[in-house]
Amino acid sequence: MDEYDVAIIGGGPAGSTAATLLARAGRSVIVLERDKFPRFHIGESLLPFSMSTFKRLGLLEKLRAGFVEKFGGEIAEAGGEKAAKFYFKDGFEARTDRSYQVTRAEFDQMMLEHARENGAEVYEETPVSDVAFDENGCELRLNDRSIRAKYVIDASGRNAVIGTKFKLKKSYPHLKKLALFAHFEGVARASGIDATLTRMVRTLDSWFWVIPLKDDRTSIGVVLDATEFKKSKLAPEEFFERALSQQPTMRDRIGNGRRVSPVYSAADFSYRNEKLAGERWLLAGDAAGFIDPVFSSGVFLAVFSGEKAADALDEALTHAARRRRLFARYERAVNHVMDVYLRFVDCWYSGKEFIEVFLAPSAPFQVAPAVNAVLGGNIGNRFAIRWRMEFFYLIVRLQRRWTLCPRLSLKPKSSSPTPSSNAEAERATHAAGLFDSASLRSE
Ligand SMILES: Cc1cc2nc3c(=O)[nH]c(=O)nc-3n(C[C@H](O)[C@H](O)[C@H](O)COP(=O)(O)OP(=O)(O)OC[C@H]3O[C@@H](n4cnc5c(N)ncnc54)[C@H](O)[C@@H]3O)c2cc1C
Repeated sequence: MDEYDVAIIGGGPAGSTAATLLARAGRSVIVLERDKFPRFHIGESLLPFSMSTFKRLGLLEKLRAGFVEKFGGEIAEAGGEKAAKFYFKDGFEARTDRSYQVTRAEFDQMMLEHARENGAEVYEETPVSDVAFDENGCELRLNDRSIRAKYVIDASGRNAVIGTKFKLKKSYPHLKKLALFAHFEGVARASGIDATLTRMVRTLDSWFWVIPLKDDRTSIGVVLDATEFKKSKLAPEEFFERALSQQPTMRDRIGNGRRVSPVYSAADFSYRNEKLAGERWLLAGDAAGFIDPVFSSGVFLAVFSGEKAADALDEALTHAARRRRLFARYERAVNHVMDVYLRFVDCWYSGKEFIEVFLAPSAPFQVAPAVNAVLGGNIGNRFAIRWRMEFFYLIVRLQRRWTLCPRLSLKPKSSSPTPSSNAEAERATHAAGLFDSASLRSE
């Protein structure tokens, strides 16, 4: 039976990141991927804090050549009156001003191919049906054979092979959301770097994304409580079309664009595993956990945990006695990222106050650059960011009791005409917010 240092289940961003780094470190590594790439996947908007890992992986050239650069985002309220743009360059202690908007079929294929080029053995159309552990390592069952490895990284995404086997997966009852999404063509874009922004529209009980991809493709989706969709008894396509038609701000964003893909759906995507490491295994990316797509943190966490898992295993393979400490440190680091986003996401969904504060005139003490940094994937280990984020949460809490920032209905204004062009909408909605450029100067 073949024996490897590390076997990786799943060839998405988490698995490919770990595979490339381990292979480069001279470890024998095998990636077992269930599907044949390229394949459709959701998760198209990347964060700038992944760029250092992409650099370490040697992927910067390939990213530049193949994908749309992304310089920030815009969050608008559905009433059509207020929107705030933020640019990564203005984030607190920003290290880079950009990341990428990626068509995942191509991005994932590029990353997996890169792992192969760097020396990992990669098998597509090779699902892992079970993993058994013993004191020397593990045995992975494939369709026609078994292989052995000293360690396994489960990077099988939401399928979570090990989390499911050991019943570690816990979902968040208050985050039972559903997403419907599709690709469009012909959606008008702003000029300059504003054409690269992820644009979000927040309604009373849902939010929409508009993500510009290459070749005139645009990813558009809506996220809402799963119960609302069930109650409607509509098919996903009908529900999606209706949701878009009910929001003038979204209709305006889409303009003459037309849908060119089926409507896809995903549900119950927020969960976490109780343990992220065992004696012989580590969980990475979505297989470890995922906290709602609202802040586009999924691929960031996948790449972050893939990198940390590779580093922990590389060291454990040389110094077996350090394994427990290394794995505990890995678990803490990945849980910390999920904790940061869980708090941010909870704040976003618990009432209108997050968006009211976010779209309010400039906050003091450089809170805006700190929020901007977290939106870019700076998980706030630095005190300077942590206290500013605490201040932001405090304002949001106070806003629940007192009106510190203007209240928003988050409902489309039926009396106000829908701006007929993107440029008109731009003028109508670009009111100064927390991210007013005046508040974005660094210290
Ligand atoms: C609605 C929605 C919108 C999102 N938007 C964003 C976004 O804008 N930006 C962002 O960063 N993230 C986003 N995400 C999250 C993002 O999709 C994931 O976090 C990311 O893909 C995780 O990468 P991964 O490598 O962990 O898992 P995946 O990319 O899912 O890869 C896992 C791989 O494992 C394979 N696999 C599964 N089971 C097995 C098995 N038994 N054997 C072998 N292989 C197996 C699968 O085929 C798959 O290729 C979004 C998620 C949702 C639900």
